Amino acid sequence: MTDFDYDLFTIGAGSGGVRGSRMAASYGAKVAVAEEYRVGGTCVIRGCVPKKLFVYASAFSSSFQEAAGFGWSVGESTFDWQTLLTNKDTEIDRLNKVYIKNLNASGVEIIQDRAIIKDQHTVYLVDQNRDVTAKHILIAVGAWPYVDPAMPGAEHVISSNEAFHLGKLPKSIVINGGGYIAVEFAGIFNGLGVETTLVYRRDEILRGFDDDIRAMLHEAMEDRGIKIITNSTFEKIEKQGDTLSSTLSNGDVLETGLVMFATGRVPKTQDLGLENAGVTLGKNGEVIVDAQSKTNIDHIYAVGDVTDRAALTPVAIREGAAFAETVFNNSPLAVDHKLIPTAVFSQPEIGTIGLTEAEARAEHGDIDIYKSAYRPMKATLSGKQERSFMKIIVHPKTDIVLGVHILGPDAGEMVQCLGIAVKMGATKADFDATMAVHPTAAEELVTMREKWQPATAAE
Ligand code: NDP
Repeated sequence: MTDFDYDLFTIGAGSGGVRGSRMAASYGAKVAVAEEYRVGGTCVIRGCVPKKLFVYASAFSSSFQEAAGFGWSVGESTFDWQTLLTNKDTEIDRLNKVYIKNLNASGVEIIQDRAIIKDQHTVYLVDQNRDVTAKHILIAVGAWPYVDPAMPGAEHVISSNEAFHLGKLPKSIVINGGGYIAVEFAGIFNGLGVETTLVYRRDEILRGFDDDIRAMLHEAMEDRGIKIITNSTFEKIEKQGDTLSSTLSNGDVLETGLVMFATGRVPKTQDLGLENAGVTLGKNGEVIVDAQSKTNIDHIYAVGDVTDRAALTPVAIREGAAFAETVFNNSPLAVDHKLIPTAVFSQPEIGTIGLTEAEARAEHGDIDIYKSAYRPMKATLSGKQERSFMKIIVHPKTDIVLGVHILGPDAGEMVQCLGIAVKMGATKADFDATMAVHPTAAEELVTMREKWQPATAAE
């Protein structure tokens, strides 16, 4: 018998917290999870899931255009934002209920309240105005959109949180940022017919991704009608009636119906009482953890975005599972954060795993590169000019595939399967020995034979 109310008290019912709680309960622990908003967390409630539904909605406009080449007359099409919101909300409600049902079925008690850490074993529940004690505490509170509060007019800005609940779609929008959320939402708004401008502070969007992919996505986004302004920041935003006037550092003044900032996310550790337990935080407010997700306090752990390791849902889920294995199944498990496949649901889509060309050169010196840029088969009849692109980076001595980068339809689906091969240490010879699936775009991945030479690339 434990001297505490619970064996485990989890703060935050998102991807990592739910997985950690359910697995701990399956190993016999008495578990409660506190959630101040909605069970499901960022991914389900205001992230990956509603975002992907919006991406689907926005892609119809280009599908309608492409249909003509295949003999279809689509006729006049109209879009109703309210219908999309209602249907999206219905689906999110359904998923929210599934998460609640699964927690209940696992025997995890759900406490709908804000929880604040009072000491190393005590959590204070704010609305219920009571303390509970736990042998172990799991911090899984995620991250929150960052908007520089010092920027004049910051109060007029929305983040991705609000983008999921807009009363009406604006005629025009300017988005600040060049990361995942900025490029994904630029594609969404553009596809839904909103005049879209993206402002990024450096010279090329998607810092950290392969340079070819960055340049090709930039070009494709502009071809689809998105205006991209680089090397610029926001100096101030003023509201005049229904119009927001954004003054940029390059002197431009943009007048739009909406301004969205996608300038990163910060761990949500403010006012969580972590100092009461002596938990060490990093310089961005992230909870510092070891390989098993343990903080500097022996029985306090943290998983997911709050630890600022890799802010991705599947990573949080793995970290939650590894935590439960370690603490409640006596089987210490560390999540391997290397070679994480990931997708950006930009339009066109990106799928990527492993080292970029620049990273591979820095780490290994000379490397072999294979590249293929091609017009997808569908474009032959649709008349669409957009090209797809694939790049394989290979270690010249071991022949091991160090990285694969894809831009084009279904890139996310492709990289999920590729991730298995690359994670297993596949060589280029393994790729070459794999029979192509014809006619697909993915067959390019196993049919690239010619090494890319910089001299010929310029031709
Ligand atoms: P990102 O870190 O991807 O991008 C933030 C962007 O904002 C960068 O371009 C950054 O520029 C810029 N920026 C940061 N601070 C400022 C500032 N003060 N002024 C101007 N620009 C600034 O964050 P996101 O918010 O897009 O997404 C957060 C995380 O969520 C991602 O990193 C990803 O891990 C996850 N995510 C994953 C998705 C997926 O898997 N498809 C989808 C959406 C989010 P710079 O490059 O110069 O730093």
